[in-house]
Amino acid sequence: MILELQNICKDYIQGKMEVPVLQDICFSLEKGEYAAVMGPSGSGKTTLMNIIGCLDQATRGTYLLDGRDVGSCTENQMSDIRLRKIGFVFQNFQLLPRQSALDNVALPLIYAGVSRKERQRRAEAALERVGLSERMYFKPSQLSGGQKQRVAIARAMVNHPELLLADEPTGSLDSRSGEQVMELFGELHREGVSILMITHDPGIAAYADRTVEIRDGRIRGEGAQ
Ligand code: ADP
Ligand code: MG
Repeated sequence: MILELQNICKDYIQGKMEVPVLQDICFSLEKGEYAAVMGPSGSGKTTLMNIIGCLDQATRGTYLLDGRDVGSCTENQMSDIRLRKIGFVFQNFQLLPRQSALDNVALPLIYAGVSRKERQRRAEAALERVGLSERMYFKPSQLSGGQKQRVAIARAMVNHPELLLADEPTGSLDSRSGEQVMELFGELHREGVSILMITHDPGIAAYADRTVEIRDGRIRGEGAQ
């Protein structure tokens, strides 16, 4: 099991009120599995992803990532886990606007303490792999949405994480670019990367092996495809 959520709850404090956002979430992902999470806006998908991605901690419940209890980790330990184990892809790409595609992809390697020469080599290889060797020195503003998302995927994978988390990765893309992103996810899946992808598009969810539905902060049905 790459990850396991046991009775995860998340409350947000608003004034003096505790607002429950996630309620009693039980979910697990096998190593190498590819799952989609679907649900309407406001159902708690991003909140769940932030907990799984070690960007936030649950209010109650247990979260095990590769057997490790994330709930008892410090902020530093969580950022270390993010760096080593998890790649992130977001709807709005989250690239640094003034940096080239190459520098955006190399960024996680700086945090990982990789030498300059090796960073260059690995970032080039990652961009080549997503079909952007001709665009390495382009800035995000000079790239299409689909190209930006491919840069983001190269950045997510440059440290070879075991887990890829994607929050609406095709949400800002035309259907052709969305398909290209799904092709890349499919390749990573075949190489053994575990993938958890949020989407509200059933056509995109269909690329995953399994779909879970979240409504009002609770997991609803689970269906194999
Ligand atoms: P989704 O990604 O499915 O659209 P979110 O996880 O972003 O849903 O949000 C779920 C609910 O939690 C929403 O009602 C939202 O208003 C609330 N929420 C999200 N983040 C916060 C926050 N930092 N403080 C208070 N409420 C929040
Ligand atoms: Mg969201």
